[in-house]
Amino acid sequence: MKHKIIIVGGGTAGIAVASHILKNDESLDIAVIEPSDIHYYQPGFTFVGSGIYNPSKVRRSMQSVMPKGATWIKDSVISFDPDNNKVVTAKKGEIEYEGLVVAAGIKIDWDAVDGLAEAIKTEGVCSNYTFETADKTWKTLKTFKGGTAVFTQPKPPFKCPGAAQKIMYLADDVFRKRGVRGKTEIKFFAGAPGIFPIKRYSDPLNEVIARKDLKTNFKHHLVGIDATKKEATFEQVETGEKVTTNYDMIHVTPPQCAPDFLKGSPLSNEAGWVDVDKYTLQSTKYNNVFGLGDCCSAPNSKTAAAIKGQTPVVVSNLLTVLNGGEAGTAYDGYASCPLVTGFGKLVLAEFDYNMQPKETFPFNQGMERRSMFYLKKYVLPKFYWDVLLKGGNLGE
Ligand SMILES: Cc1cc2nc3c(=O)[nH]c(=O)nc-3n(C[C@H](O)[C@H](O)[C@H](O)COP(=O)(O)OP(=O)(O)OC[C@H]3O[C@@H](n4cnc5c(N)ncnc54)[C@H](O)[C@@H]3O)c2cc1C
Repeated sequence: MKHKIIIVGGGTAGIAVASHILKNDESLDIAVIEPSDIHYYQPGFTFVGSGIYNPSKVRRSMQSVMPKGATWIKDSVISFDPDNNKVVTAKKGEIEYEGLVVAAGIKIDWDAVDGLAEAIKTEGVCSNYTFETADKTWKTLKTFKGGTAVFTQPKPPFKCPGAAQKIMYLADDVFRKRGVRGKTEIKFFAGAPGIFPIKRYSDPLNEVIARKDLKTNFKHHLVGIDATKKEATFEQVETGEKVTTNYDMIHVTPPQCAPDFLKGSPLSNEAGWVDVDKYTLQSTKYNNVFGLGDCCSAPNSKTAAAIKGQTPVVVSNLLTVLNGGEAGTAYDGYASCPLVTGFGKLVLAEFDYNMQPKETFPFNQGMERRSMFYLKKYVLPKFYWDVLLKGGNLGE
């Protein structure tokens, strides 16, 4: 079997690239290799976990998002043979290509924390990081009776720099509305040294933390959880010192890593990420291979917003290379993080590789705004489904 262009993964990046290539030239022979029947709008998981969205709002059938003109191969890639322009899949075996795009996402590594894989199945332990566990977050928040509520953020890498804290701000509002905040202590443990790496956005977030009386513990990441005793153990990232706290509920942002099939592949770096030039997103080893989204080595913040910036670069460079030219279009590291700070409040962080703000609106985005909350709630999902995934104008 052979296709001119093969895309590995039908998530945000894979579908965006496929549809934008076909918008450029609908006659191109493109195949998307993707095992899942469902495509998820993951940026909506925070709103599922806080009861703002019904879970049905963040999932659609894979068939419905697959661009017309693309061939969907419902299979998993197990290895790469880039010297011979082939991928190997679990069911169909070898498939040849002229150009390859790898967009296989990031692995949620439940096993990286002692006891977490078991604990996540128990009452009071929840996570917005998968569709299956996001709805449990809402069930936990709306039935919480008070006590200690813990929110965790791992050491990098992880997707969406704000998701671990957004749910804490929303939980605080839910607890206040339900009258249980007075008998609740909220604790945030993060591997990072502060709430956000850019002052323009960390200033308003620190004000939110003070206003909401949240207890922060930076440079601490979760290393163990004992669901029987309802205890979570954290490690100080510099000294290795361990701290244990009890919890009545805990929202876990689990550790994340490169997908297993990428680790040790000829396309990947030591950590397993698809090794790409951070500007052109072209493989550092194979000219006809590109990587984008959560699985690539580019040091941007892993977000759907980054994929909005990466998609036109990959499409332009891939088509140029296939026509005999050289990759010349550059991605500047753009990423965005809509930092929801409560019901009706949001700080819209937008920045590039240099951690310099790269904002969309002609007003100060470094403050909480109601308008930005409505942007996240109503406009961004529409943009995702109808523009990013459909080959629409990305404003490049
Ligand atoms: C709770 C949460 C909140 C978030 N909030 C935001 C936000 O507010 N704003 C924002 O911009 N981003 C947000 N994100 C991040 C954003 O959703 C991701 O960065 C983005 O969806 C990643 O897209 P991707 O295509 O790289 O990976 P994915 O969309 O995860 O897709 C990867 C695809 O590859 C497939 N795949 C895996 N292995 C194989 C294989 N072996 N062969 C073939 N296919 C394979 C998978 O089935 C999957 O469909 C959030 C994420 C989470 C979890």
